[in-house]
Amino acid sequence: MQKIATVPEMRRLTREIRARGEKIALVPTMGALHPGHVALIEAAKKSGATVIVSIFANPLQFGPNEDFAGYPRTPDADLAICTEAQVDAVFAPAVEEIYPRGYSSYVTEDAYSKPLCGISRPTHFRGVTTIFAKLLNIVRPDAVFMGQKDIQQAAVVRKMIADLQFGVDVVVVPTVRDAEGLAHGVRSRALTNSQRQEATVIKQALVKAREMVDAGVRSTDRLVAEVTHIIGQRRRVRVIYVSIVDSTTMEAEREIVPGKSWLMIAVWVDEVRLIDNLPL
Ligand code: AMP
Repeated sequence: MQKIATVPEMRRLTREIRARGEKIALVPTMGALHPGHVALIEAAKKSGATVIVSIFANPLQFGPNEDFAGYPRTPDADLAICTEAQVDAVFAPAVEEIYPRGYSSYVTEDAYSKPLCGISRPTHFRGVTTIFAKLLNIVRPDAVFMGQKDIQQAAVVRKMIADLQFGVDVVVVPTVRDAEGLAHGVRSRALTNSQRQEATVIKQALVKAREMVDAGVRSTDRLVAEVTHIIGQRRRVRVIYVSIVDSTTMEAEREIVPGKSWLMIAVWVDEVRLIDNLPL
């Protein structure tokens, strides 16, 4: 496995890969790799492409009150996981390689990025679309593999790719959960045991939502009310949003359309922000 830290080296390698007639799959991550990331890598491997994992904690995605410096960094463990998963190359640039002094260009998507996490994290998706545009330009992959856990992020990136005509496929991989049903995530790893116990209410709410839709409920009001009620039973869990949206546009829906609508949840468990979602 090659470990690459600079843009020219990365471009050289991808040129070689393309010259051999191989396809390139990119798995963008912020590091601190966990089983959710591994599922993306495995899906990318299965596609038959040469797999490049980027590891870059992107400062632009963090708001002024969000702890970029405190974001977990586990470079040695990440490399071991990538080696084990037979990744072909890891691209792990320093912040200055991506945003040198005086950096001043940004990419924004102005529709799908507005609701949900766009309300409470107003600069977050600008950071996401900017780093994705840069990674797509540097690596020039055929496909990019993203997680369902961050479905709004995938929707925003897909829209940016379409609007700016990058010509890259977006493959969305189902959410990987732990034994209690909590979605794996860098932030959920930070939970204490008792916080983790509280957070299992998210899974309970998703299960209830599934049951209601399977039983024929189509009213978004009813589903949102029930999910909010279930989550509200835990003292240390506070709802940021519970919403039912169109899975492509992230627009709120009045009526549930099975196969098209998604239930979107964001909560605080004490000071840890968690998101989850369910295709209905
Ligand atoms: P991050 O490193 O948190 O930016 O995540 C990198 C990619 O991994 C994103 O596309 C995430 O959606 C995806 N991802 C994170 N957690 C999970 C999970 N539990 N299941 C599936 N994909 C995930």
